[in-house]
Amino acid sequence: MEKKSIAILGSTGSIGTQALDVIRSFPDKFEASVLTASNSVDLLIQQAIEFEPKLVVIINEEHSAKVQSALSHTDCKVLTGEEALIEAAAFIGVDIVLNAIVGSAGLRPTIEAIKSGKDIALANKETLVMAGELVMGLAREYDVKILPVDSEHSAIFQCLVGEENKIEKIYLTASGGPFRGKTTTDLAKVTREQALKHPNWAMGAKITIDSASLMNKGLEVIEAKWLFDLEVSEVDVIVHPQSIIHSIVQFEDGSMKAQMGAPDMRVPIQYALTYPNRLKNDFTRFNFLEHPALTFERPDIDTFRNLGLAYDALKQGGNRCCVLNAANEIVVDAFLKDELSFLGMSTVLEETLCQISNRESLSLEDYIAFDEESRLVARDLIRKLRN
Ligand code: NAD
Ligand code: MG
Repeated sequence: MEKKSIAILGSTGSIGTQALDVIRSFPDKFEASVLTASNSVDLLIQQAIEFEPKLVVIINEEHSAKVQSALSHTDCKVLTGEEALIEAAAFIGVDIVLNAIVGSAGLRPTIEAIKSGKDIALANKETLVMAGELVMGLAREYDVKILPVDSEHSAIFQCLVGEENKIEKIYLTASGGPFRGKTTTDLAKVTREQALKHPNWAMGAKITIDSASLMNKGLEVIEAKWLFDLEVSEVDVIVHPQSIIHSIVQFEDGSMKAQMGAPDMRVPIQYALTYPNRLKNDFTRFNFLEHPALTFERPDIDTFRNLGLAYDALKQGGNRCCVLNAANEIVVDAFLKDELSFLGMSTVLEETLCQISNRESLSLEDYIAFDEESRLVARDLIRKLRN
């Protein structure tokens, strides 16, 4: 494998730091040429000193002077502001852009990376939830690869290597999150601290809340539809609390392929960076005898309404998934600030979808406009609920 130059957008987050772990352990295979962060200025500076990238972007302009001065003795270029992310995504000499930004802020950088002909290791699922049709169309047009980082989608992707056969259906596995088995009455009382305790994965705050509400699995159903060009009916969700089987493809002869292993995001991150190769690492191997029971359940979509909302949005098409995604970012933020209850999140999502009418054939500008409108509507609904 030739040495690859990687741009990590969102290098200070959960995925970003784990990607740097992978890069650190293969210094002759990868170099981190671009690092970006929104606010975590000290960590970003530390990363820049260790990895010596060519470009560092700190989005929040307030921190720009600190980064400039900390790196003034190096050759590293420092940029600031949202527009700088565009330059980061298209940076000359980069082979793969790892998009590990959280939320819809990831959409434009994905599109810029595609237009500059770079392959994308995509962790930012919101890119595909917002504008999957547009993004996959561009990826085909510019002939770039979208390499999934999300563990379930990496699993499907790995099961499809060497296959030219039609998929009958896929099963996305879900851990069920910290509230698996709870009733609506239980959920009415759950706190932010409880929701932030995921049983199997340590992740950023937004995806952890999404996992507790099963919205994460809803977003992943949408992500899978676009990545693998499936019908909605071909994407199924099965709860598998141990998170050992990362997902399953079923073919037309009834044969199923699953990808499995210990739950460690560095595995799918590494695969996206090394594809089609695999590199030997020292991550913990799964031991069957230590975990002899792998179990499966049906997801409870009556209690966890967000998963149903995501399926409905995907079936209806048009702007529905974009609206759902934007409103979800607002409700999760409000829940994290104790401004909205756990169940209130689904209520605001449903009402936002009702208040914004559907539209088809959307351009990038249309998606961005619906994203902004949905945020305003959701914020307004939260304000009304609090009064
Ligand atoms: P995180 O909150 O830990 O990190 C987010 C990163 O994005 C940080 O570096 C932050 O500085 C940057 N960022 C935040 N807002 C930004 C903005 N407006 N503009 C530019 N940069 C911004 O999040 P995470 O858990 O690493 O998740 C990142 C993405 O990967 C999400 O889309 C998530 O759904 C997906 N993902 C994460 C995991 C996981 O294990 N953490 C697993 C699967 C998928
Ligand atoms: Mg996932």
